[in-house]
Amino acid sequence: MSLTTREVQALDSAHYMHPFTDHQSLAGKGARVITRGKGVYVWDSEDNEIFDGMSGLWCVNVGYGRQELVEAAARQMEVLPYYNSFFQTTNLPAAQLAERIVGLAGARFSHVFFSSSGSESNDTNVRLVRHYWATLGQPERNVIISRKNAYHGSTVCGAALGGMSGMHAQGGPMVPGIEHIQQPYHFELAPDMDRDAFGIEAAGWLEQKILAVGPEKVAAFIGEPVQGAGGVIIPPKTYWPEIQRICDKYGILLICDEVICGFGRLGAWFSAEMMGAKPDLITFAKGVTSGYIPLGGVVVGKRVADVVIGQGGEFNHGYTYSGHPVACAVALANLDIIEREGLVDRVREETGPYLAEQFAALSEHPLVAGAETFGMVGGLVLMKDKASRTPFDSSLEVGMICRDHCFANGLVMRAVGDRMIIAPPLVCTKSDIDELIKRVRICLDATLKDIQSRGWM
Ligand code: PMP
Repeated sequence: MSLTTREVQALDSAHYMHPFTDHQSLAGKGARVITRGKGVYVWDSEDNEIFDGMSGLWCVNVGYGRQELVEAAARQMEVLPYYNSFFQTTNLPAAQLAERIVGLAGARFSHVFFSSSGSESNDTNVRLVRHYWATLGQPERNVIISRKNAYHGSTVCGAALGGMSGMHAQGGPMVPGIEHIQQPYHFELAPDMDRDAFGIEAAGWLEQKILAVGPEKVAAFIGEPVQGAGGVIIPPKTYWPEIQRICDKYGILLICDEVICGFGRLGAWFSAEMMGAKPDLITFAKGVTSGYIPLGGVVVGKRVADVVIGQGGEFNHGYTYSGHPVACAVALANLDIIEREGLVDRVREETGPYLAEQFAALSEHPLVAGAETFGMVGGLVLMKDKASRTPFDSSLEVGMICRDHCFANGLVMRAVGDRMIIAPPLVCTKSDIDELIKRVRICLDATLKDIQSRGWM
């Protein structure tokens, strides 16, 4: 790097407005400058090695430094760096990728709409489902039901669709016609209730909301199979089948947001069906290119495609970068890697179960009240007194303190309140998982020592 760390930090602080960042507190310490990555590790400008327990932002599924992806981008840039698909034109990588993704999603799907991000894809979903019902002569059927603490993006519509209270508090008014129900968070909402019974009860909140809104007004329900940014909330196994039953009962469309869960992270190419749901639309992004280049989209089920494509006329919607040939070429090469290395099966059958076992054992730590994973995502809860289930005062921000200890000790874990979450790259081997868990333990010990010295425990 030609500039010193401090020089980069000064430039950054003066001019770069970061996503989801309190710049006053960042300016005091300076942003950490990440300079390179290889496998499951990244390095900063001071050459500290960091285990990336979050795969960037849940996206670098095949790990860093994959030359094949670099070459796929370079090759496509040489031949055709860009062309649009608006005016009766297409390009080979986009058409091939659409076919490939439909093949992975299964026989109920026929088309893919491309965007450059998860947020844009969910905006697409909202316009698509409303257009679907309008085409069927039911324009009043336009309410979309989502969940509290859901994350569906940061655009105006993505923020409204998501259930993050901090996002709803800014930049309003929110997009109308979006309702929220409680998330299926067993540990917090009903720890003493049988998990499966809670799954049925939590799904029932959807039916209550449909009845409150009026079934004739409800267009769709949207949910992440496992809620990611909301804290890796793994629903009871009864939840999704019951959600599907309720959607079927009222004929409403189901959108599964697989921006995190898709492309192998939960041990399936797409996870909804594995969890007992049959979505009409699937949102994807992130893992489709392993984050090497922006790409997202919606896999469109035949139920929707037959109406929107078959009868809907022109769908007045699209992005300059829909079907970007370079992004699609990188995605094809990325899917080749995932397939060739058998990463989806490996997560489901080998590394996922191993991570589950190792991660669950963390609940023996005095700070950890519960720890669970699904495939390559996991979350643990930090508590002041786990025997009496007493949480820390949220103003102490113990999760943030833990996150800082992780960062200082060569590990990226993310804090959502006092839930610490991980989403390591799918290429993790068992020995990478051992290293990850070793670092988590060191960071938990450092956090415990820190908060004991502050007299908080
Ligand atoms: N949906 C889900 C489930 C996500 O996790 C995210 C991003 N974390 C998004 C949508 C938004 O994706 P993007 O940041 O690419 O717009």
